[in-house]
Amino acid sequence: MIPYGRQTISTEDESAVLEVLRSDFLTQGPVVPRFEAEVARYAGARFGVAVNSATSALHIACLALELGPGDRLWTSPITFVASANCARYCGADVDFVDIDARTYNMCPDALETKLEQAARDGTLPKVLVPVHMCGQSADMVRIRALADRYGIHVVEDASHAIGGEYGGRKIGSCQYSDITVFSFHPVKIVTTAEGGMCMTNDPRLAKRLQLFRSHGITRDPASMETPPEGPWFYEQQELGYNYRLTELQAALGISQLRRIDEWVARRHEIAAAYDDAFAGLPLTTPYQDVSARSAFHLYVPLIEPAANVARAEAFDRLRAAGVGVNVHYIPVHLQPYYRRLGFRPSDFPRAEAYYSRCLSLPMFASLSDADQRHTIDTVRALFA
Ligand SMILES: *Cc1c(COP(=O)(O)O)cnc(C)c1O
Repeated sequence: MIPYGRQTISTEDESAVLEVLRSDFLTQGPVVPRFEAEVARYAGARFGVAVNSATSALHIACLALELGPGDRLWTSPITFVASANCARYCGADVDFVDIDARTYNMCPDALETKLEQAARDGTLPKVLVPVHMCGQSADMVRIRALADRYGIHVVEDASHAIGGEYGGRKIGSCQYSDITVFSFHPVKIVTTAEGGMCMTNDPRLAKRLQLFRSHGITRDPASMETPPEGPWFYEQQELGYNYRLTELQAALGISQLRRIDEWVARRHEIAAAYDDAFAGLPLTTPYQDVSARSAFHLYVPLIEPAANVARAEAFDRLRAAGVGVNVHYIPVHLQPYYRRLGFRPSDFPRAEAYYSRCLSLPMFASLSDADQRHTIDTVRALFA
């Protein structure tokens, strides 16, 4: 089965990990800070705080922004559940903003309307989490402007989007957000097996993120609330977690990062070949906004209502032909956990319409021409 996404591992990656394995530090050594500095330089942010997953990164981002019981976080219903769950970990409430039908991202018009209503009702959110779906940036200029109007924090869920650009700058620069989160899961753009990172330009937030990543403990005398009793001294100042990335993972990440631009370029080449091959079929190929350059984590065409094959049948027939298609995502508000919190079908109609028609095709840097050709031939035969 050709997967929809997978990692690309070189002999250099293997050597980088082995070298750390033979060194003195498997965790809490010099490689994680180097990885943080390299991602920060690449993305154009001042600070990077590495953690063991993007899910953990979203959690500590919410903690750093002091999201808690009685507060609200709004995100997109078309995302992985982690973008919403981070609020629940903090005891906060979740709500969603419907998507833009073309970009699949949080719709700024829907956001504006919902904020106006929430301002009247006294139910404004404390944190907004736009998701850069498939690797294409959400409309951050408008989202930031609306957030500023109501004094709301913005966390970009850029799990799909490292290597992408928006307004001429790399995603992760935090030009329009307090914190940006990356994922290094193997299906994403670069991998550390499991892993994630929070980017920020705010030194105070960077300190809080570091605190929450590691038990809420600081060993920095300058940050202590009481005078250190000796060189052994540390303070637990918050209720933090062990969300640390290992040295082995950071070494893999540094090695992977060297090829990111080449990989994103290759993903664009694959997308362009799909776009060309599907012209004339009842498929809407992914819309690309001029203000953004996608990292193309996913390639998601929509099956048009005029097609004589429904999504479920297309899914089965492509899988039967060895094409490992997938569906990203089931709208989060339709999950049983969120239904129990009061969400219902038809709450976010554009997200639900998207879900009924979306199909993720194989998209990863090491996808072979032969495997893409087989995918294209199978799709064309199905929809012709
Ligand atoms: C993958 C993903 C996450 C979670 O990433 P992990 O590193 O697996 O925890 C969060 N949000 C989105 C949009 C994702 O695609």
